Amino acid sequence: MIIGTKTRYTLDLEDVMCFPDNNHIPAAPPAPDERWVIVTEVLSNPAPRPGGLGFVVKDKSGDRFPVVFATPTAARDVRRYKPGRLICLVNGSLADFRPQLGYFVRNKASAYMFMLPCNLAMLNRLAARLRAQSDAGEFGQCCNVCKAHTALRSCGCRTRYCGTECQRTDWNNGHSRECKVIKALIVWNRTEWW
Ligand SMILES: [Zn+2]
Ligand SMILES: [Zn+2]
Repeated sequence: MIIGTKTRYTLDLEDVMCFPDNNHIPAAPPAPDERWVIVTEVLSNPAPRPGGLGFVVKDKSGDRFPVVFATPTAARDVRRYKPGRLICLVNGSLADFRPQLGYFVRNKASAYMFMLPCNLAMLNRLAARLRAQSDAGEFGQCCNVCKAHTALRSCGCRTRYCGTECQRTDWNNGHSRECKVIKALIVWNRTEWW
């Protein structure tokens, strides 16, 4: 994958090396500087399963499988993974849940998995928008609302604005729901994956 910059968005969520579906997970454990993220959407509420507390997810190719939290505080750890949100499994590898395959979460640290407050459709929509902005030369270059090229200030997700007025307008028009997701996409855009 070509690594993006502050002014170029090159991230490709279809890249099976960086964002594998269930059928493209590397067989070997990751090297120290190697990573992949399995992006999955939570489909069900958590329920007791062998080994812990888990729910069903689907990956980007539509495969469904369980994710089971085997952490000591599983009941608390699963709480934020509500149906319709994403659980992103970092360097996840399949476990045998006979007769099914799935994923164990044994460590709740965000280095191993984290939540994004959107579903797969919204993730893809935001990624397409960032790509279009990049193609138009507007990525990180001008105000997200009025397209002014002056006096740029950044949101925590690096979306840029000419001032507080445009920033407030955008926040109220949906950026409050998108901010955390865009932040993840921007980090991924500038990640050296291998
Ligand atoms: Zn503006
Ligand atoms: Zn933001």
